[in-house]
Amino acid sequence: MIITLDSSATEQQLTEIRARVQGYGATGSLVQTQAGRYIVAIGGREFDIREIGQLAGVRDVHYVHDAYQLVSRQWKVRPSVIDLGDGVTIGGGGHQIMAGPCSIEGEQQVHASIDHLRSSGVRIMRGGVFKPRSSPYSFRGLGLEGLKMWSAIARENGIKIITEVLDASQIDSMYPYIDIFQVGARNSQNFTLLDALGRVDKPVLLKRGMSGSLEELLQSAEYIFSNGNEKVLLCERGIRTFEKAYRNVLDLNAVPYLKDKSHLPVVVDPSHGVGVRRYVTQMALAGMVAGADATLLEVHSCPEQAKSDGAQTLSFDETRELLRQMQALQMSLPSGKG
Ligand code: PEP
Ligand code: MN
Repeated sequence: MIITLDSSATEQQLTEIRARVQGYGATGSLVQTQAGRYIVAIGGREFDIREIGQLAGVRDVHYVHDAYQLVSRQWKVRPSVIDLGDGVTIGGGGHQIMAGPCSIEGEQQVHASIDHLRSSGVRIMRGGVFKPRSSPYSFRGLGLEGLKMWSAIARENGIKIITEVLDASQIDSMYPYIDIFQVGARNSQNFTLLDALGRVDKPVLLKRGMSGSLEELLQSAEYIFSNGNEKVLLCERGIRTFEKAYRNVLDLNAVPYLKDKSHLPVVVDPSHGVGVRRYVTQMALAGMVAGADATLLEVHSCPEQAKSDGAQTLSFDETRELLRQMQALQMSLPSGKG
């Protein structure tokens, strides 16, 4: 159950509301986000919610029967919209593209990528500077210096940045240079990282774990939300199954499911999702049909020479063609918006 508090609720009123919640045998946690204050009550017996609704200091009350609460659509029916500023939004209609290399490799590559994105009308660039690699001997990214270089060029060109944060200790130093923090599949249940990202005021894109269930993904999102940050994006990036024909199995069932169960925007990453360049275009289009609010794509001027994930990375020409097809598809979808 979620009790939304009036912004003017006093400490005294809060104590009375919590005492009432305890009286029903439930535990009430006070959640303070950047947008509001709530009491999330778990357990206890069912009762007429009007008993709580009429208490002073209460704005509204909702029963939520899911394991997650504040990210549930049972609480908030309208879709959440993430606003990156300068007219760039994700969610609530329309379709955003976040494209760029798996790894940031150097200044020349950043310039070439940004020129390409700008000419295609893409407003958000992806790229890793702290790379989680299976082998410690693989390229692990240019680090903070690389991020500073990339960010300066992106800002000059009006491009927003999404990049992966591997550890809570990196958040403060990355913060000034980025627009969206990405939590990778390997960190999907790193609860100290999720807690810490709940205390910042920039959006967080949370990837599904390689063998994470959708309920686990939503509970991870709840960690970020309940620590204060309501700007969370959910990302389907493929799961591990018995199928070895391609890198991962892009679970597109997840898109309508997550949009049904949660008010948070849903992003599809077909690059990691299938992991094979020749299938990425079709899976990106399929993700859009499934209802994704945004698509995360790996793109490189010369995928064969990319320092990571080249095998699943689209060339500039392939990207241009995909974006053309996506635009045409968007017009033909029932909502007309994607
Ligand atoms: C990436 O986006 O390059 C990445 C490492 O993704 P994932 O966490 O989904 O493997
Ligand atoms: Mn990658």
